[in-house]
Amino acid sequence: MPNLTDAKMRWTDISTIARDLVFLLRSQGWPEDKIIRYREKRLIRIMKHAVSQVPFYKSLGISPNSIRTAQDLKRFPVVTKRDIQKNDDGFLWPQLKKEGLHVSRSSGTSCEPTQTYFDHRCWLFSKYALKMSRIVAVENPLFKRLLIVSEQTNTNLEETKPSRWKSALILFGQRHLSIFDNVDDHIPVLLNYKPHILYAFPSYLLSLIQAFEEKHLPYPKIPVIFTSSELLTGKARTQIENCFQARLYDVYGSTEFKEVAWQCRQGRYHINFQNVYLETEPNESMEAFGDSRLLISSLTNYAMPLLRFDIGDRAELGQGRCPCGRPSPYLRNIHGREADFIQLPDGKRVSPYLLTMTIEAHPSIQKYQIVQKSATELTIEFIARNDVDTHGISEALSGKLQKLLDGHIHITFNKVDQIHRSESGKFQIIKKTF
Ligand SMILES: [Zn+2]
Repeated sequence: MPNLTDAKMRWTDISTIARDLVFLLRSQGWPEDKIIRYREKRLIRIMKHAVSQVPFYKSLGISPNSIRTAQDLKRFPVVTKRDIQKNDDGFLWPQLKKEGLHVSRSSGTSCEPTQTYFDHRCWLFSKYALKMSRIVAVENPLFKRLLIVSEQTNTNLEETKPSRWKSALILFGQRHLSIFDNVDDHIPVLLNYKPHILYAFPSYLLSLIQAFEEKHLPYPKIPVIFTSSELLTGKARTQIENCFQARLYDVYGSTEFKEVAWQCRQGRYHINFQNVYLETEPNESMEAFGDSRLLISSLTNYAMPLLRFDIGDRAELGQGRCPCGRPSPYLRNIHGREADFIQLPDGKRVSPYLLTMTIEAHPSIQKYQIVQKSATELTIEFIARNDVDTHGISEALSGKLQKLLDGHIHITFNKVDQIHRSESGKFQIIKKTF
C-alpha cells in the first residue's frame, strides 16, 4: 500500500492549515514565559505518549505518571539516525497503520536511507502551516508569485502538486521546478513568470547566476529568496542578494522534523517552538570550538515521536527578545553538519567554514568542492572563473589551508569542468569518499 500523498488533501485539511497558520502567527509574539509554559506542556504530553505507546520508549521502563516537568526529558537516551535505521518500527505508534502515514526519506552519512513517518495532523502542521507562517512573517504573500525549485523530479511534482485553488488560498500563484533540470532551461521560466518569492538551494542559485552571466542576460529582480538544506557561506549570500536584488532568508530544517528554525528580517534563526523542543549538549571532541551538539525533540509527531534526536549539527541556543520584536528562542552559531568537519589525524576537527572562507576569498574560483579521500588527503576540485591554472590556485591557497589544517593533511588542487550534485539534489561542499 502506498503512503499518503498530498494529492489527497481535503477541504477540511485546508481549514486545519488555515487555523494552524493563525495560531502560529499569533504565538510568534507570545511573551517568553508563555512560550516556556506552552513548550513544557506539549513536551510532557508527547513524553507520556511515547513511554506508554511506542515500543522503543516503552522499553525504557519510565512510568508516564512520573513525567512532570521538561527536565524529565533528560531521562531519555539520545537517539541517532543509526538507531532509527536499525529499528524504525520501534519508534512508531503501533495503533496507526503505517500505510496511512506520510513518510520522508533522507540519506544519512552512511548512505543508508532513514525514513521518518508523520501522522496526518503533524504533516499538515509541519509541512504546510509552518512554512506558510514563515513566509508571511517576512513578506506579505497575497497576490505574489512563488517559485519553488526542489529536489523532487518532474514526475513527482505532477503527483504531489497541489491544485491551483488550494495554493491560491494563501498565495496568488505557485510554480515548481526540479533541481535536476538543466539550469539553462529555467531562465525563460524565471523571466516570464517573474517570481516575487523564490525557494531554492544555495548551490542552485549560484548555478543560476553563472547561467545568466554566461548568456550575458541581466539578472531578474527577485525580492525574497529562501534557501535551505545546504551550507550557506557568507560569500554565496552576498552574491545571491546582490545579483537578484533580493533579501535572503535561510531556513534550518531536517527530514525528521521539517522546518526547525527560520531567519527573520534581522537575520536571527527563530526556533519553531510550536513544533520542536531543542537542547544542546557539550561535545568533548568539539571543545576547541566551544560547540555543542544539537538535540531535537518533536512536540507534534505522535506517529513517530523522536525525542532527543542527535541531528548531527553543532549549534548554540539563544534567548532574549530579537530586534524584530519576537521573544522566541533562537539558534546561533550553526556550524553545520558534524559530517562536514574535517578530522585531523590527531583527532582535532576543523570547521568547514574556516576552509570555505579561505577558498572563497580567491577571485578566480567560481565553484568548488572539498573532497577528503583519506584521513591525510584532501583534494580541492574547482571550476575557474578565468584561465587561471591549477598551479596558480595551489600557490595562492595551499599555504593558508595547510596552516588551518596544522600541516597534517596533503592538499592537491584539481581544475574540473563540472561538479555534480548528490542523488538527493543537494550540493556537498565537503565530500568524504573514504
Ligand atoms: Zn527576529
